[in-house]
Parts: sequence; C-alpha cells; structure tokens
Amino acid sequence: MSGQKSRLHQGRSCEIICPKAPTSLRGDIRIERAAIRIWGCQVGRQAEGRALSEIGRRELERIHWLTMAQSLPEEGVASYFPNERSRIERLSEVRWPQGPTCGRCQGTSITWIETRSLFQCRSCRHQFSVTSDTSLHRTRLPLGMWFQAVESLIRYRVSIFDNFHMPAHALAETLGVQYVAARRIRKVVLADIDIGGQEFLRSAVCVRAPTIP
Ligand SMILES: [Zn+2]
Repeated sequence: MSGQKSRLHQGRSCEIICPKAPTSLRGDIRIERAAIRIWGCQVGRQAEGRALSEIGRRELERIHWLTMAQSLPEEGVASYFPNERSRIERLSEVRWPQGPTCGRCQGTSITWIETRSLFQCRSCRHQFSVTSDTSLHRTRLPLGMWFQAVESLIRYRVSIFDNFHMPAHALAETLGVQYVAARRIRKVVLADIDIGGQEFLRSAVCVRAPTIP
C-alpha cells in the first residue's frame, strides 16, 4: 500500500502532496507528518520520531479518528448498507478477500445457507457465520446495530474537541438498547476501531479512502 504512494513523493514535499492526508490536516506540517506516518509514506516515516515527540499521542489519536470519519460512507452507514445481506457481504469481503474459508479445515469450497445466514464447508460440513471467531462471535444483535455503533462512536468523537468517546448512555439512546447492552457494544467496537484495534468492523464500515478535493 505504501510503496506506490511513497514513490510519488520522491524528491517532493511530502507534507504538501501526500494524497492520503485529509484536507483538514493540511497546513500544519507537524500534524501532517504524523498523519503521513499513519498512511505509510516513507518521507513521513523519517519524520516519525520528531513528529511523535512534538505532537504526542493525543494528536495522533485525533488524526486516527479524523481519518476514520472521512472514510465513512457519505450518505451514512444505514443508506450505504441498507440490509443485513449487504452487511454480511461486506464483512465477508473484509474477512476473506479471496472468498470464505472454513475455520476448521481451511477448505475454500463453501456454500451459503440462505435460510440460516450461514456458510457451510463442503469438505467437513462445518457451519459458520461471517462473525464466527471474530470480536462479534455469537452476537445476537443485528449487524446493522454494530455498524451504526461504529458510525456513531466515530462521528461523536470527531464532533467535539475534548477527546471523549461517546458515553454509553448516549449510545444506548441512539441504538435504542439498554444501557448495559450499549456499554458492552461500546467496549467491543472501541476494541476494534481504536488505535491498535482489530480493524474488522472498522475496515467494513470505513469504505472510503480519505481524499483531498
Ligand atoms: Zn471445513
């Protein structure tokens, strides 16, 4: 991912032209350098040590969340993924770019059981869902609720300047679930989308590359 982009920058001022740096970050060289580091540009990487010490983890976090916010579907997650099927397909793409694979025998000849929304391995008959053995293992909540939680947490985080995550009670209200459920959902989603997270849900919901107009 970084190789091709990095070649574009050779001999030029990376912080001005990096095609991955969000518009909102341009103009502040220190922040851009840290941002570029996140997107893997070599020039940015050379500045990593300095950038880190200059702006600190707080700024990196801010960049992390801004990037995700810019990657959300413009029309909103609910419109972009209008039904459970579209969400399953998206998670499947993210999880198995080469097509579904059996977690038991690694078989790649897989059928889809429409009535149960499950995959079945033709070799060992093992049945599994797109969330089996992920952070959403055995979730009983509709995927739409997880997707909405991801969007809500990201949009909340970039809408204020105090680096707070959306409180569980606010998420409960948004999702229409009990506080305890919202607290659990929030924990799982944050473990996925925060810096160093598993990035399963994040990759599924953040469909756009951050762009410069
Ligand atoms: Zn199998």
